[in-house]
Parts: sequence; structure tokens; C-alpha cells
Amino acid sequence: QPAGPSVPVLQAASSKLPCKPAVFIPVDRKVALFNPVLPILAEEQVIMEAINENPIVIICGETGSGKTTQVPQFLYEAGYSSSAGAIGITEPRRVAAVSMSQRVAKEMNLSKRVVSYQIRYEGNVTDETQIKFMTDGVLLKEIQKDFLLSKYKVVIIDEAHERSMYTDILIGLLSRIVPLREKKGLPLKLIIMSATLRVEDFTDNNKLFSVTPPVIQVDARQFPVTVHFNKKTPLDDYSGECFRKVCKIHRMLPSGGILVFLTGQAEVHSLCRRLRKAFPFQKNNTAGDDDKGESVEEMRKFKKSRKQKKVMALPKIDLDNYSVVPVDEGDEDRDAETDDDMAGSDIDLDLGDGDSEEDEKSDSSLPLYVLPLYSLLAPEKQAKVFRPPPPGTRLCVVATNVAETSLTIPGIKYVVDCGKVKKRFYDKITGVSSFRITWISQASANQRAGRAGRTEPGHCYRLYSSAVFMDFEKFSAPEITKRPVEDLILQMKALNIEKVINFPFPTPPPTEALAAAEELLIALGALKEPPMTGRLKQQLAAKLSCPISPLGRIMATFPVAPRYAKMLALSRQHDCLPYTITIVSAMTVRELFEELDRPAVSEEETAELKGKKARFLQIQRIWAGQGSMQKLGDLMVMLGAVGACEYAGCTRKFCEENGLRYKAMLEIRRLRGQLTTAVNSVCTDAGLYVDPKMKPPTEAQATYLRQIVLAGLGDHVARRVQAEELLDDKWKNAYKTALLDDPVFIHPSSVLFKQLPEFVVYQEIVETTKLYMKGVSAVEPEWIPALLPPYCHFGKPLENPPPSYCPETGRVRCHRPSVFYRVSWQLPAVEV
Ligand code: ADP
Ligand code: MG
Repeated sequence: QPAGPSVPVLQAASSKLPCKPAVFIPVDRKVALFNPVLPILAEEQVIMEAINENPIVIICGETGSGKTTQVPQFLYEAGYSSSAGAIGITEPRRVAAVSMSQRVAKEMNLSKRVVSYQIRYEGNVTDETQIKFMTDGVLLKEIQKDFLLSKYKVVIIDEAHERSMYTDILIGLLSRIVPLREKKGLPLKLIIMSATLRVEDFTDNNKLFSVTPPVIQVDARQFPVTVHFNKKTPLDDYSGECFRKVCKIHRMLPSGGILVFLTGQAEVHSLCRRLRKAFPFQKNNTAGDDDKGESVEEMRKFKKSRKQKKVMALPKIDLDNYSVVPVDEGDEDRDAETDDDMAGSDIDLDLGDGDSEEDEKSDSSLPLYVLPLYSLLAPEKQAKVFRPPPPGTRLCVVATNVAETSLTIPGIKYVVDCGKVKKRFYDKITGVSSFRITWISQASANQRAGRAGRTEPGHCYRLYSSAVFMDFEKFSAPEITKRPVEDLILQMKALNIEKVINFPFPTPPPTEALAAAEELLIALGALKEPPMTGRLKQQLAAKLSCPISPLGRIMATFPVAPRYAKMLALSRQHDCLPYTITIVSAMTVRELFEELDRPAVSEEETAELKGKKARFLQIQRIWAGQGSMQKLGDLMVMLGAVGACEYAGCTRKFCEENGLRYKAMLEIRRLRGQLTTAVNSVCTDAGLYVDPKMKPPTEAQATYLRQIVLAGLGDHVARRVQAEELLDDKWKNAYKTALLDDPVFIHPSSVLFKQLPEFVVYQEIVETTKLYMKGVSAVEPEWIPALLPPYCHFGKPLENPPPSYCPETGRVRCHRPSVFYRVSWQLPAVEV
């Protein structure tokens, strides 16, 4: 049944809900912490019948309705896993894969050997595994090894509404794999699970499924949530605003958990610290660890009894109904901006008195039990949010977006939503990704609000005005439409999907993005270039269907972007791998160095910065003496910083004294370990081991490293403008690149800033007052035709415009085509 317009029975229905938690009510707390009667349990029969009768089924149900934890159990109990095949569930987030496998194992009283997880670099899968939670990327890699996924009897694609790129691709691939398995007489079931009803991209897409799959809607048991918007335009300091809001809720409102949405790990930690200081909590109360087991036990008992009794259907409530969104049909009378619900009651919403010191100290006697929650938090710590808070305390979880749909925290009554999310953003010019904080979508805001109404009526405080909310996009666009797709295309080509353009994408990426990716992969040598005959259009079409090359196959196995994968693939000779791994790790981690050129506030600081700078330069001198090492430029600086830091034992003290950022160095160390493991599993005979300490590369190795970097960053070559090309002053000391018409410059922070080598490669271009290249290394011109033939042009130099640049193709013309330098160090059996 489709969700109709708002059903005004909400309030009445919620007071008569037939599903008071039947078991384990922690009477000493007002909040019902566990809620074993999950809405989806009432639908088991319907769901299982649909799955038995259809190869593909879509299940929609509000977050927390029990999809992720219960559907795998239904399947297991119905005999869908056996020695001949397992149940696989994909999650877009690692934290969900780990935590859900643990939860399901516990609920089913099965060991981790049977209910397991696999994420990119770790897992606990065994031969006995029958229910396997994994990230979507992991399943994609498995398809590369075994296209028919013969290990599985059922594949569940969870959180499909998130529209993560890999989830989309998996759905496209599985739409083909399911019929193939059918033909082979080994049918595979596909279940797509989504938290929203917006599944038209899957159902109304005749390229995707030949028969439209049935959609089962699980009625959510959702209590009304009152939404309060801020009156004022949003503040920049949303973190401080969150703090004040939580303080007010905690002091003035009845018991019930608080969930705060922030954007990143650092913010989460800083708010946790502030809150803990304001509402101290003595640790001698144990955090109710034992409750968890009990609740699971009760859940099991309940499920047994459910088999006999028929569970009453639960009232259905749709999302629009509880959020006072003044967008859709005639909700104006509940204009949230007026905050009628709050008048004179719960909380004073006027924050005019703002950030007073008083807020730091609390008069409330009730301690606040503050817990952080974000993806990279250690699993044991994550699990804490699911346990009841110690008696006599109020739970407050400060989370990133992971709490929006992947994880449901019990007992939340108040949600504080900053309205922002940290998202990966891709620069159109350089393709380099960065994280930026942006507004969320309306759908996300409503999901966040919904977290407050799981166990009783709740409140959501939005730290932005309703006018701002109205400007949010309705849904965030699928990831695949917003990012460069070269890594995805390489993965698909590795699956022998040559005509990517014909692939049944739920939402296809823009054709230009596909073409750009194909072109880059050809240039990297990962795809075989088509013979250039026929018309331009045909050429383009041919280009979008190039087969993968042997080098591409090797590249596809490395868990990094194609540019970096190429560097790794070329690094096996001359013992360059440890260095390339370090360079790739360092390029992935941002902000390695402290800003030492910043204006100091005191004389003391000036002296301190000067000392740090001198020591930093000393490291550079030791590591990057001269010759090729010096020419490796900024990458050598990175290598030297990591090398020196590790030599000193990677201590905070060393980092602080030498102008290195300790956190970045730790992150690099972790990545180096992970990449070493990954490389070892690809090249089983490489036998690398993780030794954080390394010697500086030899002069020869530094030369190879420059070639390796050039081969990977081939489209990021820049050539210094020659005297005769100087058009005007703005071209002084400028470089020309293959991608831009404008002059670009070496960033002043670069060690090559003064040297101005003729040819360089750069990691990225940043735009401030000018376009600046960062992460610069010098390369020799004669390497370019050898390593990057597609970027070179051996015709007669054009007379005008500049001879080294071809405006039609945007390609660098090689200066000295007669000097051929065939490198002799490529991987055996691979042709570049
Ligand atoms: P959905 O996938 O539909 O969003 P889930 O299956 O994730 O729902 O969650 C169902 C219920 O199980 C939620 O109420 C949630 O609080 C509870 N739950 C999930 N994981 C745990 C856990 N590790 N500990 C305790 N409760 C959990
Ligand atoms: Mg779920």
C-alpha cells in the first residue's frame, strides 16, 4: 500500500500502540531501552513468501524497523544458507557491517565463525560462515573473482537508499547475475533493502530488471516527533550551538536520550569533552554491560513464542506525517517557525543569551552519559551506544552521519541536528577529492528527526531555520552522478564489461564523466587504445568500449585510485615498493606539516617557529641531498618527513619539534601497513614486511621514483613557459598544463618554487590568488614519450599558439621527440 497523505490518527494511535515492549522493561528508567517487538517481525510470512516466489524483492521500511538484523535471520531459519551457499549482506559503511554481524550473531546465539563480516582490510570469515556482512566494495571485488557469485544463495543489498556508488553498481551487476544463475539452475535471490519508499530508480527502470520486482513495505512503528526550527539564520559555530542546546535539554526536559548530529570525528570529540566537563560523570557506575545479553535472550524467547501467536499488525506512520515540514500538502498550519508546541513548555528556544560561561558549569544533579559515535571508532566503543546508560544518568550520543540510517540507538527522545554533513567533493579541474561540509538534504533531515521517535514521542531541534530547510535539496543525488568514475570504470573493465555506456546503471553517470575516465585509463595504460579509424563519433564510441590491458588487471587489484595503482604496479623493480607505498599514503593524508610561515603572535613564538623551520630544513637536507632526490621535490619532502619521523620512533615530541603533524604521521603509518598487506596479497612473492623505518632511497631509486610518479600522474604534467612564449606578464614563471588554458604556478611552499624545472608533475592544483600546483616533482622531458605516449604528439611543432601545447586535444607536445628513452624496468609481461 502506498503511503497516502498524512494520516491524522497519529497521536491517537501512538497512545494505543499494541506493542509495549513485552519483555525486559527497565522499570527504574522511564525510557524503554529495548524494543524487541520489531515491526518487521509481523511481516515475516509476507516477506518470505515474496522471496520464495520472486528472484528479486525490494523491502522498504523505516530505519530501526529491523530490516538489517532480522531479514538475514528469516532467511537462515528458512534454510537459505547451507554448505552449498551462504547469505551475503552488503552495507555501504564499514561500521554497520561489523556491528550488525555482531548483533545478529548474538541474537541467533551463533558464533562469529558462522555470522561473520568482511571489510576492506579485515574480517573474521571462516569456512563455516553462513551469514556474511560486508561492505559493498568487498562484494564487488568478489564478483571480479567469481562473476556468478556461486558462494551465495542470497545476496541482500542493504541501505540502497543511500545510493552509494558501489551499491548502485552492485544492483546493476546483480540484475544480470540473477538471470544467469537461473539459467544455470542455481537460482540466486536478490533482496534490496531501503529505508525510504523512493525506489523508482530501481523499479521504473526497464533497463535494469525485466520483471518489476515486488516492493514490500514494512509498516514503521514511529511515534510523533515535534520538529523545532531555529528562528535565526544558522550560525557558523554550530558545534557551540549544539552544546548549548544539549545543556538546555538536559537541564530542563524530562528524561530521554539525546542524539546529536555533527559532521566529523574531531567535532564529535570536542563536543563530548565539553559536555563531559559540564556534566561530570563518575565512572564507578558500570555501564550496564550485562543488560545486553539479557535483552538478546528475551528477544530469542519472544521470537519462539511469536511462532505460535500471531503478532498484531502495527499502525503505519509515514515520515511526512510526523515532521512538520511546511513543504507538502497543506501543512502550513503547523508552521514550525512559530514553535507553538514549545510555547511556555519544554524549552526556551530563544538562544539570544548565547554562549555564557555559565553554560560550562551545570547546576543539574543528573550526570550526562556522553558517548561518541563515528565510523572509525573502535567496535567495542561503538557497541556502547546500544547498552542502557548507567542508572541515574541520561544518555547523550554525539554522532556523525552514521546514526542517520545505518545504526539505530535505543532510547533516543531528543535529536539535535546541526543540518550539515561532511561530504567528499570532487574538483572538476584536478579531479582531486576533498571533504567539505555542506547542508544535508530534506530527506536526511527527516531521517535524523525520525531517530527521536523510536520508543516514545520525541523532539527534534534543528539548528537552522525552516527557510533554510526549504532550500535544501529534496534528496541527495546518487553518488555516482557526482564524482569522477575512473576507479569504478577500471573495476568494471576488470569484470570484462567493455561497453560501460550500455551498463544498466540505476542512475547513469554523465557521459562526459565516463569519457573522461576512459581517456585517463587509456593514458595510464590500463585500457587498450582503440585503433583510430573512422569518424570522430565512432572513435568516441569505440573509446567508451576499450578492453582492459594486462597492466589494468594488475592495477584493478590494488585498493587505491587508478593513478596510485599504476605507481604501485610499476614499483616492484629496484625495491621501490616501500617508497611508493609511503608516497601514496602521504599523498592520501592531508596536511602533513604544520604551517611554519604563519605570523607569530609573540616573540617567543617567532623563535619557536624559526627553530622548527631550521630543524625541518635539516631533515630535508639529510634526506633530499641533491640530484634526483632533490628533483623528487615535494614528494621527497614527504618521504623524508615520514622517514625521519619513523626513525625517531614516531613520537608526538619529535613531530612537534620538527613541524610535522603527529596525527597525520600516525595515519600515514596505518595506511602504509594496510597498503603493504594489500600489495602482499596481490604479489604473493613480493614478501614485503611492514618496517616503519626505512633508509633514504638511493640516487638511482629516486630517479625511478620520479619516473613512477610521472607514469601515475601523467595527466598532471606541466611545462614551464619558454621566453619566446611569454605572451604577457601574467605568464612570468608560469607553467602550462594539459588540462587548463590558464597559467599555473608552483606553490610558494614547494621546495621547487625557486628552481622552476622545465617539466614537472603535480599532485593537485589549488586556487587561491592564482592557480597553484602542490606536491610538485621535476621530471625529465625524454621520459614523457616513453611513459605517456597518449599525451604526446610527434608532429611538426605548431608555429602559433605555443609549440608545446595542442589546443584541440589539450595535450602536451613533446619537445624532443627524437630522444627516445625506453624504460627497461616495467613489470614483466605488461606492456605500457
Ligand atoms: P533497520 O535495518 O530496519 O534500520 P535494524 O535491524 O538495524 O533496523 O535495527 C533493529 C533494532 O535492533 C533497532 O531498534 C536497534 O536499536 C536494535 N539493534 C541493532 N543493533 C543493536 C546492537 N548491537 N545492540 C542492541 N540493539 C541493537
Ligand atoms: Mg539497517
